[in-house]
Amino acid sequence: MVIIMQEGATEEEVAHVLARLGEVGATGHVSTGDRVTVIGAIGDREEMTALPLEACPGVDRVVAILKPYKLVSREFHPADTVIDVRGVKVGGGHVALIAGPCSIENEEQLMTAARAVRQSGGSMLRGGAFKPRSSPYSFQGLGVEGLRLMAAAREETGLPIVTELMDPRDLEPVLEYADVIQIGARNMQNFQLLSECGKVDKPILLKRGLSATIEEWLMAAEYIVKEGNRRVILCERGIRTFETATRNTFDVSAVPVVKLASHLPVLVDPSHATGRPELVLPLSLAGIVAGADGVLVETHPNPEHALSDGAQSLSTAAFAEYAARVHELVAWVGKRVS
Ligand code: PEP
Ligand code: MN
Repeated sequence: MVIIMQEGATEEEVAHVLARLGEVGATGHVSTGDRVTVIGAIGDREEMTALPLEACPGVDRVVAILKPYKLVSREFHPADTVIDVRGVKVGGGHVALIAGPCSIENEEQLMTAARAVRQSGGSMLRGGAFKPRSSPYSFQGLGVEGLRLMAAAREETGLPIVTELMDPRDLEPVLEYADVIQIGARNMQNFQLLSECGKVDKPILLKRGLSATIEEWLMAAEYIVKEGNRRVILCERGIRTFETATRNTFDVSAVPVVKLASHLPVLVDPSHATGRPELVLPLSLAGIVAGADGVLVETHPNPEHALSDGAQSLSTAAFAEYAARVHELVAWVGKRVS
């Protein structure tokens, strides 16, 4: 349930409500807005309903939320969450243009891609060091060596870096280097991994699972936020359907559906959604028009020789043209590229 405090409610009044919730073993997560404070309460529904919270001083009203997720819901936090990554904002009118190779392969490949992203006005650099590959015989990523190359690319370009974490055992090195930790589609319901991500002080980019409903995706985000980390960025990356013309089916409707249901920023990843470089621009534009807070795309200096996802990557030359079109559209919708 969500407890909405009156305008001007005091800290003592908020503390009192939290104490009353504590009496029935429930926990309250406080969200302080410009005007009102909202408390998201998690605990036994019956016991919480029995508490006379509306009679507590400073309480305006108590709203029962029927949806299974609470902390990521708009009811709990009506304003858009804006996530700051080393000064680069995502959400609330700031559109992130995140690009880079699928996998970090070597210094030259990564630096060429990173410079292209920087020169074209990109916001952050992506690149995988730990790769979730469908085949155990495919390139699995450079691991920690890849993270070091990413840090060097950040050093030169100033771009914050986004990289995937697949296993809680790799949390330490990933935490040491990454600015944003990506949780891939295949791990969206790896609940232990999600809970670990909830305990860290780094933004988490949570991709939608290959066959996850929007509700399951938001519940996965709830796992992270419940542990205390409120900085979650969602990413629609296509879902499995009967269609074979594209690698996955880009669910553009997920963007406004999620934005109505949740305060978290939402990105689109048309590279994995379609598997086809010629579709990356039109679907990035569609995502931005639908309200996306950013795009995550793959670019490689030489897609033909890429060790993973070359077939869907934009060449770095094509990326410059792509980025220019994204900048134009973002301005046209009245937002700015962060
Ligand atoms: C990736 O971003 O390279 C990736 C593996 O994405 P996904 O988890 O969406 O398949
Ligand atoms: Mn990829």
